[in-house]
Amino acid sequence: MVDPDGEHPARIEFDEPLSDPAELQPLMMQLVGKARRVSGEDGTTSIEREVTELTGTRTFLTRVLAVSDVHPHLRMVTLGGVDLVTFSPLGPDTFLYVLLPPPSRTDLTIDQSFAWSQVPDMAEDERPVGAYYTLRAWRPDRCEVDILMVLHGDTGPASAWAARAQPGDPVALWGPRTAYEPPAATDSMLLIADETGLPALANILALVPDDMPVVAVVEVDGPDRLELRPTPATTIHWLNRRGAPAGTTTLIADLVRTLDLPGERTYVWGGGESRALTAVRRHVRDQLGRPRDAVSLVAYWRHATSPADD
Ligand SMILES: Cc1cc2nc3c(=O)[nH]c(=O)nc-3n(C[C@H](O)[C@H](O)[C@H](O)COP(=O)(O)OP(=O)(O)OC[C@H]3O[C@@H](n4cnc5c(N)ncnc54)[C@H](O)[C@@H]3O)c2cc1C
Repeated sequence: MVDPDGEHPARIEFDEPLSDPAELQPLMMQLVGKARRVSGEDGTTSIEREVTELTGTRTFLTRVLAVSDVHPHLRMVTLGGVDLVTFSPLGPDTFLYVLLPPPSRTDLTIDQSFAWSQVPDMAEDERPVGAYYTLRAWRPDRCEVDILMVLHGDTGPASAWAARAQPGDPVALWGPRTAYEPPAATDSMLLIADETGLPALANILALVPDDMPVVAVVEVDGPDRLELRPTPATTIHWLNRRGAPAGTTTLIADLVRTLDLPGERTYVWGGGESRALTAVRRHVRDQLGRPRDAVSLVAYWRHATSPADD
């Protein structure tokens, strides 16, 4: 169990022995419901929200409508299709898994019935490739979404696809999902990103109240920025890695260690390279004492030298 005082072990006894681990989830949900009725509290717990979110995900079939470059290493891809008529974003960091044709094919090998459980049974050359990307913009009246894809070379299938994407190319989107969840009492924010987290950070800054103190720390290479909405209470630190390969600097954590949090109940959100965010997480949790529910630092990608358990 986790509460504002930290983590506590809890022993739960069920009436019947469980024979299948899948039976655990409904029993846990029943237990959560029972605990809430006894406590008299309202609202939902994070486990209930997670399950609701996962059961609400589906696969949308789209096509590339347009491609344009924000700067040489960031490509905006506009996707559209009537299938998106039922799509609805979850929060400013809403992300979707972009499912692409397998390498050496141009057609999708999946349809709306796609589920991850099917993948192990698919022939290797039929398996879709792809990665998670953030919804940068959504135009429901036109059934269109924009995503911003970092071009980091041809080593990754998603980046290689983005470099060659053309209007008409088929793309499936699995989702949506979200990790942005500021506690109700949040009085300020510390936002962290590299280029991959920048689309979500831009969306978050677009909706924070004008008077909420926000500190944003963003690592980019040279002038490769994205326009962010300035508010009177926002300070943005742009960190320039000056040609060093992405994921190899300690710029973000080095700066965060020198900063004071902008409030008493600061929510810390971040999206970026795994090792960089692990260093920030250690600092804000262990040194600054922010509780687990006030910290959403998500590893958006992993540099080849980052330990897998980061
Ligand atoms: C919730 C979420 C939201 C995300 N939103 C975005 C987004 O809006 N825009 C975006 O561009 N990315 C976003 N990402 C990150 C993206 O999913 C990863 O960068 C992903 O690894 C790209 O897949 P790939 O097929 O190109 O490379 P992979 O096959 O995953 O990796 C191949 C190689 O490329 C390296 N690599 C991967 N990404 C990068 C990078 N960005 N820079 C340098 N080297 C890299 C890896 O270390 C590996 O060595 C998001 C990730 C998550 C989890």
